[in-house]
Formats: sequence, C-alpha cells, structure tokens
Amino acid sequence: MCRDCNRFRKEEKIQRAVFLDRDGVILEERGYLSHPGDVSLIAGAAEAIKLFSRLGLKVVVVTNQSGIGRGLFTRRDYLRVKAAMDALLARQGAKTDGEYFCPHAPWEECGCRKPAPGLALIAGKELGLNLDESFVVGDKRSDMEMARAIRAKSILVRTGYGWQTERDGEPIWDVVAHDIGEAAKIIARVIEGSGDVGHG
Ligand SMILES: [Mg+2]
Ligand SMILES: [Zn+2]
Repeated sequence: MCRDCNRFRKEEKIQRAVFLDRDGVILEERGYLSHPGDVSLIAGAAEAIKLFSRLGLKVVVVTNQSGIGRGLFTRRDYLRVKAAMDALLARQGAKTDGEYFCPHAPWEECGCRKPAPGLALIAGKELGLNLDESFVVGDKRSDMEMARAIRAKSILVRTGYGWQTERDGEPIWDVVAHDIGEAAKIIARVIEGSGDVGHG
C-alpha cells in the first residue's frame, strides 16, 4: 500500500549513520595491523556500537588500509582481521552494518583514501544514508577532513593517534571525546535531544 511505501521512503530519507574509523577507534592501534591474533577491541567499543544501533544509526566502518597498496599485507589478511574483529564484537552482541576500506597507497591518488570522501559516498549510496545528518568518529585529521567533506558532525577521540591529532593541528572537529564510548554518549544526547546535528 501507499502508506507502507511512503513510510519506507521517509525512513530511507532520514537514515543517519555513524562512520567509524577502525584503527585507534574500535581496535587498538597496532600500526599496519594485519594478523588476526593482534586484534583487540578498545574498551567500550562493543557497548558503543550497540548504543549506536539502538539509536537507529547505521554503523559503518571506513578504514584506510594502505598496507595493502604498500605491499605489506594482502586483502586476504585484511579480511581475516575484519573477521576477527566482527567475532569479538559479536561475542558482546554488537554488529556493524557495513565496512568499507581503501586498499590504495597514498601515491595512487585514489578517491577513496581518507580524507577523500569516496568510502562514505559509496556507503551512502549502498545503504541509503543521509550523510549530512550523520556522524564521523575518528582519531586522525584525515577522518575529520572526510567528515567536513560530507558535512557530517565530527568527533575526535583521544585513543589511537587522537591525542596527537588534538595537540598538533587546528581543531576542525566539532567535539573531542575521550574514546568511542564517550562519543556514543555524546551522539545519543544529540539524537535524543533536539535532533539537531549542526555543523561546527
Ligand atoms: Mg585511525
Ligand atoms: Zn583508495
């Protein structure tokens, strides 16, 4: 019926996401992480992802994996790491809705390596996301720049390289959070409050 159809369209139109960087945000930063045995969740990551899901957000991982383009590890290694992360999250009842990675080295000048918005744009198309009402959580300047490119609200976490990012550069993010857990609480307040995501 039309009513169902309209409802579907309306929901699709307002679908928000939270784009999560992987290394230094969900997983402990290891520097070219390529072995499933080295995968460990940052404390509170699974709880945060569950909260995002409860808030109605699509949880989308966007990660630069230039180790592939640099020849340090393979796509298969990356997929094994992804499987290990997904298994750890599942054990705590958390699940992401999508994961997008850039396999290129910086010198390949692709459109998907953050700060370029390519990964978020592909995810937006595939998952029907409203990017400028979405959120980005990351630990590097490139994450924050991607957020700007898609006009999403940006949260810098101090885990991973985050404390250095906070110290070294012009603050181009909207908010700083201690970690992904605090980022989730901030986002929950925005969504449950006015619903206004604003731009910093
Ligand atoms: Mg990172
Ligand atoms: Zn790329």
